[in-house]
Order: sequence, then structure tokens, then C-alpha cells
Amino acid sequence: MNFDPAKAVQHLEQFGEFGDVNPSITDSSTFTFLGAKTMIDTFHGQTHGCFLYSRHWNPTNKYLADAMAAMEGTPAGWVTASGMAAITNAIMQLCNAGDHLVSSVTTYGGTFAFLKNYLPKFNIDVTFVDPTNLEEIENAIKPNTKVIYTETFSNPLLQISDIPSLAKIANKHGVKLMVDNTFSPMIVSPYKLGAHIVVYSMTKFINGKNDCVAGAICADEEFINSLIDVNSGTSMLLGPVLDPLRSSSILKNLNTLHVRMKYHGQNAMYLSGKLQELGLKISYPGLKSHPGHELLNSIMNKQFGYGGMMAIDIEDDEKANSLMEMMQVRGVGYLAVSLGYFKTLFSNSGKSTSSEVPEDVQRKMGLSGGLIRFSVGLDNDIENTYEIIKGCLIDLKII
Ligand code: PLP
Repeated sequence: MNFDPAKAVQHLEQFGEFGDVNPSITDSSTFTFLGAKTMIDTFHGQTHGCFLYSRHWNPTNKYLADAMAAMEGTPAGWVTASGMAAITNAIMQLCNAGDHLVSSVTTYGGTFAFLKNYLPKFNIDVTFVDPTNLEEIENAIKPNTKVIYTETFSNPLLQISDIPSLAKIANKHGVKLMVDNTFSPMIVSPYKLGAHIVVYSMTKFINGKNDCVAGAICADEEFINSLIDVNSGTSMLLGPVLDPLRSSSILKNLNTLHVRMKYHGQNAMYLSGKLQELGLKISYPGLKSHPGHELLNSIMNKQFGYGGMMAIDIEDDEKANSLMEMMQVRGVGYLAVSLGYFKTLFSNSGKSTSSEVPEDVQRKMGLSGGLIRFSVGLDNDIENTYEIIKGCLIDLKII
């Protein structure tokens, strides 16, 4: 595939009103109209380039949304106050009471909880499937199915979704394929592979600084416009808009994403390879031993590496806790949820970001109590980081 998301971002020309190289921040919730009729027309969606009210569109948010759309290769985008806002708004826009979704069982815990516990309030039903089993996915589709939902790299098991095949299934049945690409920005371009809607938590790699929560929805114009329709748009009516001050800082960070993704990937590749040599059970999509490695090779934009996420399964939650505490004390990184930060973060997924998933379901999906998810940081001396982790493993008699 020829798409280069980094070039698409680099080639954007977004100037402020004084030629400012960083577009100006529009610090306004409302906008004046020179003519009363223009205001009426804008309410009816009949004007172009007119800003009405910042819950609908704000110029600073538009810069970031345009940059996200350029990165994804989608015609349009919209930015939200969190990743969960992006996911829930996109789903609520597509589904009405009585509808049905097919979702990967391995998703971020908050997404799983929304699908399993919250959607039943609206009589929307979800069938959970193994994201790598195309037959199971197709068989789960019913006449009232509206969406197939998956994550490119599943959280936390790092299974790889076969997006081109899922898109074929979705198109055959007239349903939308929605993909959460939070773990793999730039590495995989789901829309270019046939997905209809791509959602992000920008809290993670895209912003990369752990100083805010934010999200994005990338899709065609029709879908984005439907989200912000003044009469029926889920985002316009529920109002999870991103603060323009934050949009401005995230946009600056987006412009260094390609460099960071490459470096995260380089460090994670090194660590996962060395830890696997020690005989540990490692899941990292860059390793040949990973079941999704070949599939990922066939769908990825190669120059960005295999991502910063890796998981070590030490099979025992007590040992996992001791290891995480020791790694934190010895300076490997922080025992914290979230990902995509310049420092390494680690947490026991089953007890944290996937704790919303009942334990029996965790075991069924292959998530052990001793699985530690790592978001590998931008360490300049990753060899030294490895030596510290190895020392912890020896001292705790894990190896
Ligand atoms: N999607 C994935 C894969 C995540 O890991 C998370 C959060 O951890 C979210 C979505 C939710 O994003 P946010 O915390 O920005 O609402």
C-alpha cells in the first residue's frame, strides 16, 4: 500500500490569521454573523465555512480534525473530549433501539462495559466474537446488525484484526465496519483498508504527553455531518466537544507522531526480543512468533515499525504485582494505566484496564491474571532498561 500518513500530515498548510506557523487558537464559544439570513442558513447546514457555536465547530478543532482526517486518509473528521466520547458517539449515531452490533470480545475495558452494560438500556444488543475468527464474525450478523466493531491491535492481547476481510464481510451485509486504531496510529490506516469509521483515543500515542484526554472520529463527510446535525446529531446533542486550547496542543504533538511511533516500535522490538530469549511468554506483533505477525505485515505501513505495546504473561498475579513494583522502584517506568507516553508504563490488564471484563470471559479470551501490558517508552538507552528488567526477573526468581 502506498499511503504515507506522515507525509499527509506534513503537507498540511495550516496558518493562523497573521501567518502564525501554529494556527491561532480561537478562544470563543460563539461567532458573529454579519447578516441574519446567514445565521438561519447556517442552522440549516446550508453555508460553508461559517462557524456557529463551538459545540458544533470551532476553527481550532477544525485544524486538528482536518489533520486527523489527513492522517487517516478520510474525507472528514471530528474531535471529541475523550476516546470514549468518540467511540460512544459514533456507535449511538449508527444504532437505534432494537439494533444489533457484532464486537470483538477483546476491546478496551471501557468499550466492553459500554457495549455490554450500557447499550441494553437502549435495547441495543451486542454479540461478542473472537476478532481473529472471520467465520464466527460473519455468522454473528443478523438482519438488524448495524456495526462490526473491532480494534486494529486488540487491547490487551494484541491480536491483529484482518481489516480488509472484515470490510468485505461488512460490505456484503450492508453494515459499517468501525475500527479503534488507538494502539496503531500511522502503522495501520484502517480507512484505506476498507473500514468505514475510524475512532481514536488521542489521549495515547497521538498526543503522547499524558497531559489530557481527547478523541477523534474519522470518516466520510456524510457521517461526520450527521454527528453534528443540529437536530439529530449525537455529538451536537450530547456535546462531548474538545476544548480548543487542547486541540491546539494536540495538533503540535501530532506533527511528531511519526518519529515517536518509530522509536516506540524500535524499543519495543528490542525489549520483546530479548525478553523472549529469556524464555518468557511475550506477545508483540513484531515478533515472528506472534500469530498475527504475517497478517500485520500484509496490512501495515511498514516504515513506522510494529508499535510500542507489548505484553508479558508471567501467569501469576502476585508475581506480576511484585515485578511491577520492583520495576517502578528501579526506574523502568511507572505502574500506571494508559499508553503512548514517553516513559514506559505498565499495568496488570486483568485487574485494571480490562477489569470491566468478567474473569471467566478474561480466561476464555486468553487473558491470564499474570499478564502485564507494557507501553514501551522512548528510552534512549533501551539496553540498560532491559538489564534492569532482567535484574528484577532474577531477583524475584521469575527466571
Ligand atoms: N480505546 C482504547 C484502545 C483505549 O486503550 C482507551 C483508553 O485506555 C480508550 C479507547 C478510551 O479512551 P479515553 O480514555 O481517551 O476516553
